[in-house]
Amino acid sequence: MKAAKKTREIVKTAVGSFKDLQNVNSTPGKFKPNLVLRAKTTLTRSLQIQWIHGNAEKAEISFFKINTHGTALDPVEQRLLKNRKKAAAIAARAVVRAGRGHRYWSGFDEDVRAKVEATAQEMYEALFEPELSVPVKTLNIPIGGPYSSHNALDLLMDFIEVVEGAFGHEKTIEEAKDDTDGSLTVDVIGRCLRTARRIVGVDAPSLGLDPVVYFYSQTGRFNRDIFLAVVEIFATAEHKHNKAFYFKFTDVRQKLEAFLIALKTLLTQLNIATHSKQRRGMWVKVVNTMIDRFAEGEDVTPEFVMGTAGFTGDVLSKKKISASISDEVKSSVYIKKALENPMLCPVCKGVLSPKSVSYDHKQPKNQGGKGGEENVQLTHPFCNTGYKNKADQLAAKAQEKAVAAE
Ligand SMILES: [Zn+2]
Repeated sequence: MKAAKKTREIVKTAVGSFKDLQNVNSTPGKFKPNLVLRAKTTLTRSLQIQWIHGNAEKAEISFFKINTHGTALDPVEQRLLKNRKKAAAIAARAVVRAGRGHRYWSGFDEDVRAKVEATAQEMYEALFEPELSVPVKTLNIPIGGPYSSHNALDLLMDFIEVVEGAFGHEKTIEEAKDDTDGSLTVDVIGRCLRTARRIVGVDAPSLGLDPVVYFYSQTGRFNRDIFLAVVEIFATAEHKHNKAFYFKFTDVRQKLEAFLIALKTLLTQLNIATHSKQRRGMWVKVVNTMIDRFAEGEDVTPEFVMGTAGFTGDVLSKKKISASISDEVKSSVYIKKALENPMLCPVCKGVLSPKSVSYDHKQPKNQGGKGGEENVQLTHPFCNTGYKNKADQLAAKAQEKAVAAE
């Protein structure tokens, strides 16, 4: 009833009631031409209605059948609808609405609802703020790419799937069971947030990856496959409590980032040349292999990366250039310039992301260091806390060696 009433209200404000349209049609001279045209097309168009005998489930099956033939229902929306009782779909909706708007989680207990909304809001901020504008004229851009509810829902469903798989849960959303009380949704957002907080933000565990360095092409295009690959790598480490990985990553960060910045064009070409279904797997392999090689003190050449990605020879294609300056070129020139001399973290020499800056006492507080300008430097949050603790670092590395020897 509520839904029907709301629908009627929406139709009335957006289109006008059927009665209004009939009036327009009978006395067209009294109304604006666009209204007359609309009335004409609306009243002469046939509307197909199907009557289904049976229960709601039967109707639902029929609905998907109709919509996958002929006029297609958007695949993302279709996936969400089919899985609307699963934690992943509820979580994705909650994040996209930043915990506001229509509440797909309204049937849950109040404390569960509050938790869903608060964590979803935080997840939204981690992924999509500040909003991206094109052409790119700042390094302060979102790690999750351009925001539109459609894009965001699509990305989030994959993000959740990647994290859940890495944490040893169902590998696909379709395999997961329905969430009846919201507890699964809370857990899912919690795991996603733990992973996101490693990648971005000012909390102590954050490595504060610079979005432009890692997740955007030379022309300012968001690369969702590299992003999801990095999410998978970090979620795997998070699930295994593999602290040593973060130390190793920080050790090689300067070299890794220099490579990612210098070879952005090659990386884009590798992405284009790889089948979309294989891209994430390819990037997981490439990034992990690069980290390992740098950690072993080896060099990484473009040829080596191409080989790891499964290519030999020249994958580069040449583009035609027109006389006017496109947004892509504008972004490209900005990004190139900005990454020529970026602000670096003095601890690891990696690029400092504006969204993940931490204020570090050069001389530690417990050694008498003060909070004055001359004793404060900008670092990654993890470099300020975990990484600086040598004892912690040695313990984590010893633990990794012990695990590897098993
Ligand atoms: Zn650092």
